[in-house]
Amino acid sequence: MEFEPVIGLEIHAQLLTDAKIFCGCSTKFGAAPNTHTCPVCLGMPGVLPVLNRKVVELMIRMALATNCRINPECNFARKNYFYPDLPKGYQISQYAHPPAEHGWVEVEMDGGKKRIGITRIHMEEDAGKLMHDERNPVSLVDLNRTGVPLIEIVSEPDIQSAEEAAAYLRRLHETLVYLDICDGNMEEGSFRCDANVSLRPKGTEDFGTRAELKNMNSFRNVQRALEYEIKRQQYVLEGGGKVVQETRLWDDTAGATQSMRGKEEAHDYRYFPDPDLVPVVIDDAWIEEIRKGLPELPLEKRERFVRDYRISAYDAGVITASRALADYY
Ligand SMILES: [Zn+2]
Repeated sequence: MEFEPVIGLEIHAQLLTDAKIFCGCSTKFGAAPNTHTCPVCLGMPGVLPVLNRKVVELMIRMALATNCRINPECNFARKNYFYPDLPKGYQISQYAHPPAEHGWVEVEMDGGKKRIGITRIHMEEDAGKLMHDERNPVSLVDLNRTGVPLIEIVSEPDIQSAEEAAAYLRRLHETLVYLDICDGNMEEGSFRCDANVSLRPKGTEDFGTRAELKNMNSFRNVQRALEYEIKRQQYVLEGGGKVVQETRLWDDTAGATQSMRGKEEAHDYRYFPDPDLVPVVIDDAWIEEIRKGLPELPLEKRERFVRDYRISAYDAGVITASRALADYY
């Protein structure tokens, strides 16, 4: 039997705001541990979060650039789980009422252009960071990152190969950087990607059991991890086995994915509306104002360079790969 992969990607992008999403603390990377903190982002009892308007604006920019429908009203929800880098015991995220849905982007593949759907974009806060000391049996926590604004961009399961996944990822990455809403630094974790992968018999419609892949901190690793995981699942299925629903970590040195834990379902998080935050209303006038300020996006720029400057598609791709170089050209 022949199998085909079905891949969906979840991208977390840190937004380039000066202040965190629900307090006035700085978002600057690299400060001494726990210096960019206050009672709100430390999750002290009795404090109240206040939404940073700039976060909504940057989310709208990305939603417009990816052809999403922007909902007139959205709200925040608590995603409950316990982890030492999450002092409140819940993450403020969005669940049942996201601000943007039903978008798409186009990627250029060898066979031509392909459209990949975007299920939703929502806003949330980042968690802190744990540091494990190899020599001493202690773990340290740095809460500077707690409350740094993120958008999560969830794709439809439209991606059918590791190459397509890499092309989609590059498209979103360059769009975020062109829009000047994320610095795109994968090593510092400001652009992160998780992937859901499953296989199904070729020509069928139902989805197979999926594994979630984490810990891929470069474009190359995303592609390698997906290639490995597709082969691994194929091997399991061809041997008559069953794929287990779980979260797997990419191990770069081993060149393999390894089981980390059983995959949670949404109901494990006991989502409920955050009673500390009012619904967010986005009116048409605000959307239009933001739309007017959008820059030319990389794909449009590429096509214009080919048309107006009569350079090859390849050269246009190289020149527009970074916005700085394209502006200089
Ligand atoms: Zn704070």
